[in-house]
Amino acid sequence: MSAEKIAMVSRPLCGDLAKCKRCPALVQGRTQPVCWREPNSNPKVRIMVIGEGPGRDEDAEGKPFVGDCSDPLDALLEALRLSREDIYLTNAIKCFAPGWKSHTLEAQGEIETCRRTWLSQEIIAFTPQIIFTIGKTALKSVSVDTTDWPRKFVLKNLPWPLLLHFPHPSGRHPKNRKRYQNIANDPLIVQYRRLIDSLRNLS
Ligand code: SF4
Repeated sequence: MSAEKIAMVSRPLCGDLAKCKRCPALVQGRTQPVCWREPNSNPKVRIMVIGEGPGRDEDAEGKPFVGDCSDPLDALLEALRLSREDIYLTNAIKCFAPGWKSHTLEAQGEIETCRRTWLSQEIIAFTPQIIFTIGKTALKSVSVDTTDWPRKFVLKNLPWPLLLHFPHPSGRHPKNRKRYQNIANDPLIVQYRRLIDSLRNLS
């Protein structure tokens, strides 16, 4: 899919998303839903990166991965020899949730509601070859069973994209934060980089 076609899909989607009020508890506390408005994708390998949910900076700007989470994402992309221009960037849940408690959002159904309403549309429109999830909430939003990753991952309603995963830098475990300090040499990232490079060479 060309960058122009991706833009044709993405811009109306962002327009519709801006009006979404399906999660009353989140609508009260958000400034706006977050949506990636500048698709400029390199169609050689279609990679969709899915984060967890917007923080305060993203909520204020209406864009994913700005502010505090910008540097870890850019470090991750650099380690994979990618840039923001190479990927489709989104979040599992599009509205800011004060105090971000993924188990509460799961229990209240907001993650599933947002997946069914928006994330699935984005995936169908972009038809990624690789889905790269950052953080467990993102992973859960596209997979059926996260208990035995990577062997048992089956994408919900998706026939074939590769699913790659990496922990979120602000997760509960300090070792996840540490992994971002030397991310280019992280064994998992080295494997992912090889895989992405080989797909690029095939296309
Ligand atoms: S979280 Fe998603 S489904 Fe819920 S109100 Fe926001 S955009 Fe709509």
